Amino acid sequence: MIYDVIIIGGGPSGMTSAIYSSRARLKTLLIEKAGCGGQIAITDNIENYPGFEQGINGFELATKMQTQATNFGTEFIYGEAVSFQLNDKIKKVILLDNKEYLAKTIIISSGASFKKLGIKGEQEFIGKGVSYCATCDGPFFRNKEIVVIGGGDSALQEALYLTKFAVKVNLIHRRNEFRAAKILQEKVFKEQKINVIFDSVVEEISGKDVLEQVTLKNIKTNTISQLSVNGVFIFVGWTPNTNFLNNQLKLNKQGYIITDDKMNTSIEGVFACGDVREKTLRQVVTAAGDGAIAANSAQHYLEK
Ligand code: NAP
Repeated sequence: MIYDVIIIGGGPSGMTSAIYSSRARLKTLLIEKAGCGGQIAITDNIENYPGFEQGINGFELATKMQTQATNFGTEFIYGEAVSFQLNDKIKKVILLDNKEYLAKTIIISSGASFKKLGIKGEQEFIGKGVSYCATCDGPFFRNKEIVVIGGGDSALQEALYLTKFAVKVNLIHRRNEFRAAKILQEKVFKEQKINVIFDSVVEEISGKDVLEQVTLKNIKTNTISQLSVNGVFIFVGWTPNTNFLNNQLKLNKQGYIITDDKMNTSIEGVFACGDVREKTLRQVVTAAGDGAIAANSAQHYLEK
């Protein structure tokens, strides 16, 4: 069987590609590593995706996207794509279990993965107090004091979410201003349970069996202090999931796939969309827009 389109990754960009491409009656297969939704599947409330005036739960939005794609005829399979042959007219995707799939076009929408800080104790206390997912682990910190690290949209949004559970959220940022959207900043500064600590970094996470404290350093004064907390949530950005492509596509210095505005990559018939590509605004709505363009470009390529 040769598909018209194989989509790698089931986040908002991949699922939008799937909706557009199967609606255009292209034989479409979407390959997803874990569960569909990508980053939004672990986001409590998405308040800036148009059409949902009260916001929408990320998992719910992902489920709706997947149902919509399925209704138009997209096939979904779960597995990890580990190798590709992209240069031939008929392209091949090989999964970890050695299964092979063929297609005339490929859309890469593999997204990005959270960055780790690489500080002492971080690895050791994963699952014992260190987390990268507020919706997954927030409920474990009911009435506890915690730390959130980062100054972007994720850190502020998740710090606000975590106030539902924690008694106090210390939001630690390495500079003296946040890069997050102003509306999130306003909410954070208004929230009594959030204690903002600027100009500071966490140098070490420690404890006996479970996390008990963090060592903080004020980078302006070099003052070191200890903070007794039960949890540390880390939101310091993302790295693109492009290692598995084995440098077959042109990437920028940070590893994001370089595309033009039609989502064409450096190989004909291969498109990229969403957070995995070089772009300025990474949002659900821009991922969806990319996905629609990628599917449309795949359709034009096939018609040629
Ligand atoms: P981000 O915007 O890259 O922010 C990462 C934050 O972590 C920055 O504040 C950065 O500090 C800090 N940081 C990075 N490395 C660090 C280190 N080694 N030590 C301490 N701090 C460190 O990442 P994000 O917040 O996950 O957002 C990613 C993308 O998703 C963005 O485009 C964002 O707009 C989007 N997003 C949007 C929403 C929304 O619209 N509601 C929600 C979540 C994410 P500096 O500021 O000093 O660089």
